[in-house]
Amino acid sequence: MDARSRYDAVVVGAGHNGLVAAAYLAGAGRSVLVLERLERVGGAAVSRQVFPGVDVRLSAYSYLVSLLPDRIVADLDLEITLADRAVASYTAVPGGPGLLVERDEGPATEASFRALTGSDAEFAGWRRFYGRVAALAEDLAPTLTEPLLSPGALAGRLRDPGLWHDLRERPLADVVADELASDVVRGVSLTDGLIGTFADVHDPGSAAGRCLLYHVVGNGTGRWRVPVGGMGAVSGAMAAAARAAGAELLTRATVTRLDPRRDGVTVHWTDDDGAEHAADAAHVVCGAAPAVVDRLLGRPPADGTEGAQLKVNMVLARLPRLRSGVDPAVAFAGTFHVDESAAQLDAAYAQAAAGRLPDVIPFEVYCHSLSDPSVLGPAERAAGHQTLTLFGLHTPAALFRADPVGTRREAVRRVVDQLDAHLAEPLLDCLARDADGEPCLQAASPLDVEASLAMPGGHIFHGDLAWPVAGTVEEEGTWGVATDHPRVVAASSGGTVRGGAVSGLGGYAAARHLLERC
Ligand SMILES: Cc1cc2nc3c(=O)[nH]c(=O)nc-3n(C[C@H](O)[C@H](O)[C@H](O)COP(=O)(O)OP(=O)(O)OC[C@H]3O[C@@H](n4cnc5c(N)ncnc54)[C@H](O)[C@@H]3O)c2cc1C
Repeated sequence: MDARSRYDAVVVGAGHNGLVAAAYLAGAGRSVLVLERLERVGGAAVSRQVFPGVDVRLSAYSYLVSLLPDRIVADLDLEITLADRAVASYTAVPGGPGLLVERDEGPATEASFRALTGSDAEFAGWRRFYGRVAALAEDLAPTLTEPLLSPGALAGRLRDPGLWHDLRERPLADVVADELASDVVRGVSLTDGLIGTFADVHDPGSAAGRCLLYHVVGNGTGRWRVPVGGMGAVSGAMAAAARAAGAELLTRATVTRLDPRRDGVTVHWTDDDGAEHAADAAHVVCGAAPAVVDRLLGRPPADGTEGAQLKVNMVLARLPRLRSGVDPAVAFAGTFHVDESAAQLDAAYAQAAAGRLPDVIPFEVYCHSLSDPSVLGPAERAAGHQTLTLFGLHTPAALFRADPVGTRREAVRRVVDQLDAHLAEPLLDCLARDADGEPCLQAASPLDVEASLAMPGGHIFHGDLAWPVAGTVEEEGTWGVATDHPRVVAASSGGTVRGGAVSGLGGYAAARHLLERC
């Protein structure tokens, strides 16, 4: 007789989506086991002390939250605080004051557009474009927590189906250029289509439109908020909700094989000592990336998934002063764009697509601790330390393969030089030092992300984002979580139609799918 444990659901991977699925399922009375290969839960949504002797808990990978629906927070009673930033973005412009966009665009934003472009026309175009974006976001956001709508039904829910159509059918560069003329201002908008997405904004079929949509739709406002306590506080609250509901969470448990049958699935895993374990499940919920799941099912993974970002984590002894004279506490409080004009994005894309590290890497930086000093230890807070996160674009994994360490070093050298061009004092002089006297700067290429998080190719969404609508007639009315096997459902960012980023939507959809069936 088989003495194996049997669960209603075994969740593979305790990324935040796996945790959300576990919390919903256990909360509905299902027996749930969550298996996570790492020693901690959270996947790419974690906080940790990165530098020895420096008590600062950095959001080592993801850092801002927009797509997590308030509904999931309320359903699971998640104890998290998401703080608004007063500044949405600041764009450094050589020789000028730069472009400031406040969260609530007021006279300072208007004056900044005027100073940059010499007229009020650009700000008017910006208001028109983002007015349309806001209406689209308000109309689309509620559909994300419903079963998938057909394209026709979705379009019928929108006040501005024209923008939805344009994003899907036209090159993102053209859609943005309809309203915006300035190279700098266009770039601010286009970066939303390129975060974590290597795409040609002039190609109507590229993933840039989808990526922009996910960056503007969260909770109907598209506001990117600061998780107080860092990203680890978000996944920590999800793990707490799952445990409180009765789910069992096992870390250092690497799933090695899934054997699906008609009536269930046997899940095999190993622990840190190499001991082998197995459990039976009525259903398996896959919180790991689709390529991982393919491997576990003995199928060749679909190839080609590749991330394109450079992530740099830093702790500063003080914020650097800016050449523009703008207060660094204003500039770094929002998303600080560097070398992200439309022309610079095009040039970097062309070089990277041709297999070269871009001469000028477009990137953005952001200081978490200005909005939320709670991530700083007492001594670091008293000393005035600050955090800094840098996210570089158009640096695909392939560029790092021949010489991972040397290419990463060169990429860091370039972005530091590029940032220094806007600073009144070198960044290096402002970095805090760790216990070994080393500057507090840690960089990760997509290859590093793949190695540490099992995200295929280091792609931050596990693969290109999908339009949040049924892609086929069969998909209409479903939750977009099906795999080839009815006993195995997807929950992850890349495995589900609408699961991208820190949203919990993949886990939510997987749980709704299962709870409606059993
Ligand atoms: C550098 C970076 C910056 C980002 N910035 C943001 C941001 O600011 N805002 C935002 O919204 N999104 C951001 N993202 C994207 C976002 O973090 C991810 O899309 C999201 O966290 C994915 O969550 P997930 O739960 O679907 O998958 P993951 O977080 O990938 O979790 C999958 C889990 O499965 C585990 N696993 C894998 N294989 C196995 C196995 N065989 N057995 C057991 N466990 C296994 C992994 O260890 C992992 O814990 C960023 C991502 C990165 C990498």
